[in-house]
Amino acid sequence: MILPHAIQEVKDAARVEDVVGEFVALKRKGPRFLGLCPFHNEKTPSFNVSPQLGIYKCFGCGEAGDSITFLTKHEHLSYVEAIKWLGKRYNIDLPEEEQSAEQELEQSERESLAVVQTWAQQWSTDQLWNTEEGRNIALSYFRERGFTEATIKEFQLGYVPERGNQFAAAALAHGFKAELLDKAGWIKRRDDGTPWDFFAGRVTFPIHGLSGQVIGFGARTLKSDKKLPKYFNSPESLLYVKSRSLYGIFQAKKVIASTELCYLVEGYTDVISLHQAGITNVVASSGTSLTEDQVRLIKRYAPTVCILYDGDAAGMKASLRGIDLVLREGLNVKVVTFPEGEDPDSFAKSHSSSELTAHLTEKAQDFIVFKAGLLMADSGDDPVKKAGAIHEIVESVALVPDMVLRSLYIKQCSRLLEVNEQALLSEMNKVLRKQYRKKQGGRADHGKIPERGR
Ligand SMILES: [Zn+2]
Repeated sequence: MILPHAIQEVKDAARVEDVVGEFVALKRKGPRFLGLCPFHNEKTPSFNVSPQLGIYKCFGCGEAGDSITFLTKHEHLSYVEAIKWLGKRYNIDLPEEEQSAEQELEQSERESLAVVQTWAQQWSTDQLWNTEEGRNIALSYFRERGFTEATIKEFQLGYVPERGNQFAAAALAHGFKAELLDKAGWIKRRDDGTPWDFFAGRVTFPIHGLSGQVIGFGARTLKSDKKLPKYFNSPESLLYVKSRSLYGIFQAKKVIASTELCYLVEGYTDVISLHQAGITNVVASSGTSLTEDQVRLIKRYAPTVCILYDGDAAGMKASLRGIDLVLREGLNVKVVTFPEGEDPDSFAKSHSSSELTAHLTEKAQDFIVFKAGLLMADSGDDPVKKAGAIHEIVESVALVPDMVLRSLYIKQCSRLLEVNEQALLSEMNKVLRKQYRKKQGGRADHGKIPERGR
């Protein structure tokens, strides 16, 4: 915890016109500053900043607050993160309350891992651009995939040479301990202790946390040998908690917030290709199936998730359950499918940006409608299968927290499934009652301590 007197010092030092001025072009007008509001769309400035009062206020949309409010709303920082941001900006030391020995160890391990991952990202990027092997093998691979230089740089892609355990040699020579490199997932150790490069001969995709810190990596082999796993990923660590990370979130968060929409894809290259094609509000859950924490992370920025599916129906059906999680969190869920044999990556490459944008807008279907269509097509004329499908759809509808929305879905499904609305309603009420009872029974879980501060 940051000590209260340090927080006060930060608050006293922070000049609202400086802080806001980092993100908004402000013009002095008498005792105030005026600019275009960053929280709503406007052509004539109604966003006021008052240095005397230390606050900003928009007369268009009503947003108002001080420097800290501005950082939490505009940069989506937590209160503590905002204080730290200001501390850095105004060179104020932020002494923290004493931690237990265990907390200290954890924090220092997390910080050490962060240093390793940052260094490793720079090293692998350097290998990509500045070595013959990197340019010939890895850079040419990225170019073949259609990535531009700007894209490769923006996503900090890199390469680890195939032979000689060059990463281990360089990292050890730099002074990192083998144990730490092992924990960070960069090296493995043989029985006799000699290290070898886990990502050797692979291109690297750094995974960033919300603030831009590299927390882990995905590494893709460039060999066509089918026996080799296509991707290796960094292991779980104090720094890289997979269930709470989303690939691309750092690059995407601002546009997700401003468009109020988050596209969700499967892989690193889908994120990068869409980004390059101008769709920048896109993230991937990268390998793991979607978790509750990931859904909540998206929810911090936008009320709607749009899932981009690869062509095949079996894969889509397998993932339907996972989407229920998103519904339960109260997010709107939309789905876009692609033509047979295409994925978001290949589609983005074989079509122009405007065609891609048109596809994403025109083909977006509501998830419930999509699920109903998929399951009904699958059950054909078999009444037993059909009943099972209807039950599954009703279960999804029952997860939607908003009552009005639920009843609209029931109306729509009644039409789509050709089932009496009343029958669907009573089926849903049964499910709701069951859910309610489950919740009551499981209430002991609810008093849990919220996520620990970082
Ligand atoms: Zn405004």
